Amino acid sequence: MPELPEVETVRRCLAAAVCGRRIVSCEVRHPDVVRNLEPALLEEVLRNNRFTGFRRRGKYLLGDLESGHVLVVHLGMTGRLFVVETPCELAPHTHLIMELEGGAELRFQDVRRFGGLYLLTGPLDHSIPGLAAMGPEPLDPGLTEEHWCRYLEGRRGNLKARLLDQRLVAGIGNIYADEILFACGISPQRDLASLNRVERIRLHRQMRRILTEAIDDGGSSIRDYVDGRGQPGGFQNRHRVYGRKGQACTVCGRPLSGCRISGRSTVFCEHCQR
Ligand SMILES: [Zn+2]
Repeated sequence: MPELPEVETVRRCLAAAVCGRRIVSCEVRHPDVVRNLEPALLEEVLRNNRFTGFRRRGKYLLGDLESGHVLVVHLGMTGRLFVVETPCELAPHTHLIMELEGGAELRFQDVRRFGGLYLLTGPLDHSIPGLAAMGPEPLDPGLTEEHWCRYLEGRRGNLKARLLDQRLVAGIGNIYADEILFACGISPQRDLASLNRVERIRLHRQMRRILTEAIDDGGSSIRDYVDGRGQPGGFQNRHRVYGRKGQACTVCGRPLSGCRISGRSTVFCEHCQR
């Protein structure tokens, strides 16, 4: 599933490739992907409109339109939003096509259809589940070590489960939760309330370092993810625990352990993570 680094990579690609170009036409090919309005109305709003900027909030992509509307896209499990400069044959499961001036196309493809599109008419409202209640952005410069330590004060619950909870912190999913906790040397089975000040600071540093490095690498491509130009990322080659259960720990050489937390497969080193 695309997490913060993947959505941020898509955002950067689209900001460079799509902003300012007029949308000549729009076709919704599968009505289910349009979540909070009639597909015909979405087509009408997008036609002759243009994107003026793209923002990201957690795993949501927010496309600002000249008309004042905001197109919100969630990529779900398998969603892809990408530009095709020279239109070629449509891949299966292409649910939305926007033709841009100059002949390029912005396409939304989603095999499993857990993703979706929403249109907002004003500031972020409460009509989109999860968006309004989202926690702080981990890479926000305003989220200093000091703020983070204070923010975690009095919060509890299984550490990995809480990192996956978008209300605690935005944009982290199964890949980066495991990678961040390994980098911290902290077990995913700990309780958030048990972290001392040094561990909270380590979590802050490693969370920001791992997410920044993953963005620099264009995100992680496990199965479906591609960036806004249809290209895979490279950070999967630098995963140290995710998907490596039973393989040797890159630090101590012992086999990595696996367990399930919040129904999600979790990989960690029992020796290096305490
Ligand atoms: Zn180890």
